Amino acid sequence: MSKKDYYEILGVSREATEDEIKKAYRKLARQYHPDVNKSPDAAEKFKEINEAYAVLSDPQKRAMYDRFGHAGVDPNAAQGGFSGGGFGDFSDFDFGRDIFGDIFESFFGGGFGQTHKKGPVPGADVRYDLEITLEEAAFGVEKEIEVFRTETCPKCRGSGAKPGTGSRTCPACGGTGQVKQMQSTPFGRYISITTCGRCGGSGTVIEEPCPECRGSGHVRVARKIKVKIPPGVDTGSRLRLSGEGEPGIRGGPAGDLYVIIHVKPHRLFVRQGDDLIYEAPVSFVQAALGDEIEVPTLDGRVKLKIPEGTQPGTKFRIKGKGMPHLKGYGRGDLHVKVNVVIPRKLSDKQRELLKKFAEISGEDIKKQSKGFFDKMRDAFGV
Ligand SMILES: [Zn+2]
Ligand SMILES: [Zn+2]
Repeated sequence: MSKKDYYEILGVSREATEDEIKKAYRKLARQYHPDVNKSPDAAEKFKEINEAYAVLSDPQKRAMYDRFGHAGVDPNAAQGGFSGGGFGDFSDFDFGRDIFGDIFESFFGGGFGQTHKKGPVPGADVRYDLEITLEEAAFGVEKEIEVFRTETCPKCRGSGAKPGTGSRTCPACGGTGQVKQMQSTPFGRYISITTCGRCGGSGTVIEEPCPECRGSGHVRVARKIKVKIPPGVDTGSRLRLSGEGEPGIRGGPAGDLYVIIHVKPHRLFVRQGDDLIYEAPVSFVQAALGDEIEVPTLDGRVKLKIPEGTQPGTKFRIKGKGMPHLKGYGRGDLHVKVNVVIPRKLSDKQRELLKKFAEISGEDIKKQSKGFFDKMRDAFGV
């Protein structure tokens, strides 16, 4: 069986520098590492790449290979061609650790949480739901809210150790923060590096935990924060208070605090965007004859003229008495909807006059005298 050319395997020219060979190797090793590449011939390819690199990265072996080809270096083809570790057992090579460190860095460092990274981590955002009245939403308000936030423990200043006690080197990893594991595969062994579970990668463990924070290094603290709510907010409006969220880790920036507004339903007004709707009770006499009524608004009562012959459900618009526009100037409108109220009870005199009214109008009202049910209705006021 003819063996593939080592230069070809790594995809480099015969004049390639050591650096170029190393670069090409790293790229291919990442691509075909059996932990990463699950295609069936990846393992074979990976072995091939390592074999090629083992020879070409060593100036002496490379020279032999250049002169004699595979026969000069391949232990299977030419026994005793040279002595040295068998191919495939690449954990013996000094570059092995370096490479696998890189691979684990690129695969587990970025995507799967900063397990063995010690850099700054930004703090989490915090949500606070705040209920306000319609009046507060209309005119704006300043509210003081209480927010719980994780802060550095003041007793141990974040170390997690009981004051006066220290920390010692982690016995599990010897202070490196990493645990190395030799793994055996059919084509060799390699070293995998994982974050130490005992110390979480810090390399140290505390002797006695701080009683205040039970060793966590942080405590939950209630803080009062003033929130300025602008006029015009509605349910679902979100106010962002930059830097008022959870603090960052290892110098990372703090998260933000989001205040979510909930506007309580109002006794008189129904909100529709920036407009308000008010249902005005009007007697049938007022509706028939016309009148001037008083209407409540967010800014106090105003007068409204009801023209003669106003029908139930008629809407009148009072400009600029709605909610302020959150973005921009001005306000929405107040819509007054006429709700004609029919009297539930009539006095004898009122009944008399209404009958007369019907008579004049040419209406023939069948019911002339009070029946049993009408009397019952009167008695119970229903
Ligand atoms: Zn503490
Ligand atoms: Zn450890």
